[in-house]
This record gives sequence, structure tokens and C-alpha cells, in this order.
Amino acid sequence: AQASRLSSFEGQGALSDGTPVPLLANVGNAAEAAAAAQAGADGVGLFRTEFLFLDREAEPSAEEQTAAYRGVFDAFPGKKVVVRTLDAGADKPLPFLSSSDEPNPALGVRGYRTDHYRREPAVPGVLARQLSAIAAAAAVGTTEVWVMAPMVATPVEAARFGRLSQDAGLKTTGVMIEVPSAALSTRHIMKHVDFASLGTNDLTQYTMAADRQLGPLAELNDPWQPAVLSLIAVACNAAQQSAVGQSTEKPVGVCGEAAADPALAVVLVGLGVHTLSMTARAIPAVAAVLQTVSLEQARQIAAEALQQECAAAARASARAKLPVLE
Ligand code: PEP
Ligand code: MG
Repeated sequence: AQASRLSSFEGQGALSDGTPVPLLANVGNAAEAAAAAQAGADGVGLFRTEFLFLDREAEPSAEEQTAAYRGVFDAFPGKKVVVRTLDAGADKPLPFLSSSDEPNPALGVRGYRTDHYRREPAVPGVLARQLSAIAAAAAVGTTEVWVMAPMVATPVEAARFGRLSQDAGLKTTGVMIEVPSAALSTRHIMKHVDFASLGTNDLTQYTMAADRQLGPLAELNDPWQPAVLSLIAVACNAAQQSAVGQSTEKPVGVCGEAAADPALAVVLVGLGVHTLSMTARAIPAVAAVLQTVSLEQARQIAAEALQQECAAAARASARAKLPVLE
């Protein structure tokens, strides 16, 4: 049996045929969360917790972490907030967790790896303590708190993160799919988690082997690159396959910058993405374009973009089918 796209949802994002597409916000602190709620976000799809502690020499205490997480949850009573555990390293170094002497920081011990592949002088247990602080903050109030790990590369890592989160008392656990190996392993990863979120910023960087911080490589670092769209399609198809025989699909979202590009948002939904998370100010423009297409039309637009040979052609093919963008 075909699993239905999402179990339940009431919010503003929807296609012309009524298909719900929750539009969530990317936030880094309580002030951004309040602004996102004000802007009408249906929840938070990416709470970048590392942004709270970028300048810290020492691990923040459990109390301080819990208070900071509460600050974000309080902006979304009754709504979903997806908390990402510390994505330390590479472009977001955290002195207490990441190392500054790696030859290739983007390929180094970053994100979830700081816990799984422990190395001196990292303090053990930072992830477990963070998960406990998130659970303590989630225990108060009505916010539906989900938790996910960044930089997961294998199903083994996803399974271990799921166990750690459950041990901390967190019910809904997921991983980011932002490494090509994770995209290619989605079928197995989905056995171990409740949802996945495609991080198109890093997925593009790693698929194209192009540093996301290098301006001269911006043309390569483009999520419209058909190779990146193909990997997203592979991940979405695998997630759908893993739901065959189940009543609902496990949600697959996008939380990279790609979700904020209205034409690309249509393509992502057409490829099988259920929710989009973006900077709050992009939500109205994305909502306006989504409501002009049906799911069937989005699928056709996505299929055509996928056939193109370069990013410019993929973008042009989608935009040509979206008169609202002219
Ligand atoms: C991503 O990689 O797409 C993402 C959303 O995470 P960040 O930009 O924080 O690495
Ligand atoms: Mg990332």
C-alpha cells in the first residue's frame, strides 16, 4: 500500500491541490525564533544550537543549555521545533569541542563525529549531556520537540544517535542527510530514525567537492546542479520505499538554503520532500509559489529539472513552468 505523505498537519504551506507542505524556519536563538513565529512559520525545522555557544572555551552547563533551548521552544507552543545537536567544526568551530589543527576541517571530526570518533582533547559525553538538556527543556510546555544529528555518514551512526536520544528521553529522533554517503544509504538510515532532513548546503559542498565558503566556486556550489538534485531524488525515493506497507511515510525535509529559493522549493516537493525549512523572511515568497502548483505539476517540473545537464538549464526549465515568477 502507498503510505500517505504526512500523518496530520494544519498550517499555511500548501500546494494548489491542498497537499500540505509545512513551511518551517531556521533559527539560532530565542530572538530569531520569536521573529519566525511572528512571520508565520509553521514551526522550526532547524534550530542550530551551536550558534548559541560559538565563542565558548568551556562546555555550557546543563542549566544554561536548558534555559537557552526553552527560550526557543517558548516561541512555538503546540508546534514542532527540530533541534540539531551541536554542529561543531569546519565553518562553525566550537573551542570546547572541535579541533583547529585539521588539514581538511570540512572532512574532519565535525558535527556528530565529535562524539562517535572521539579524540583528544575532546571532552567525552558532550552529546549525551546536550540531549539531556534538550529533554529537560522539552519536558516543560507544549512544544513538540524533535532532535537530529548533523554530519551523519552511515546507518550505524544514525542507529547510535537514535539510541542515545531515546536514552535521554527524546521520542522523535532523526538525522541530517548532508553527506552523499548518507543520501545513498537512506533506505537503511530510515530504519533507525523517525525522520530525515536534507542539508543541501553541505550536501552540495560534498557532492560537488567544492568548499561552500569559497566564492570562486559558487557556480559549482549550486543546489540546482543536476547531480545534487539526483542525490536528493535517490534519498526521497529510498525513504518512500522504506514506507511501503506502513500507514504513513517518515517525513523528509529540507533545511538548507535551497528551500528558500521558490522555484527550487517546487522542485524539492516534486522530488518527494515533505517539509521546507528556511530563513523566516523567505517564507511568504515560497508559500506564494507553492500554492500555484499541484503535486502532480511539481513532480513534472522536478522530473524535467532532473533531466538537464547543468544548473542553469535546470533552473531555467523549472522557472519556465512557473509563470508566477515572471
Ligand atoms: C546544511 O548543511 O544544509 C545545513 C542546513 O546546515 P548548515 O548550513 O548549518 O551546515
Ligand atoms: Mg550542514
